[in-house]
Amino acid sequence: MSLKYKPIDLEKEALEDLRGFIDKLLSRPSLGSSGLTGTWRLYKPSIKIDKCIKCGICWLYCPDDVIRWVPKEYPSIDYNYCKGCGICSNVCPVKAIDLIIEGE
Ligand code: SF4
Ligand code: SF4
Repeated sequence: MSLKYKPIDLEKEALEDLRGFIDKLLSRPSLGSSGLTGTWRLYKPSIKIDKCIKCGICWLYCPDDVIRWVPKEYPSIDYNYCKGCGICSNVCPVKAIDLIIEGE
């Protein structure tokens, strides 16, 4: 009696395991998933439109998905949900986003 080896099935199973594993690692930001920011934000980002090159990198990196942007347009920020983390400011290639003290 010979053993039946099914390498295709094994590969498929391994691939599904890998997909399941990667799925758990992926971050899926959603608008305000932790609620309105309220009054605790210390800094807020301010976009200098005259420097912005409309690249959308800030939109891509914002972990709270609060930057609105469509190709060829300037981005805008929803301050109701922005947490002031500064990531958008750090990734902007032309330094078009300043972090200013809240309330100024
Ligand atoms: S400061 Fe943080 S939360 Fe606010 S827009 Fe920039 S990346 Fe998003
Ligand atoms: S990353 Fe900077 S240059 Fe690019 S769209 Fe955002 S503000 Fe504009």
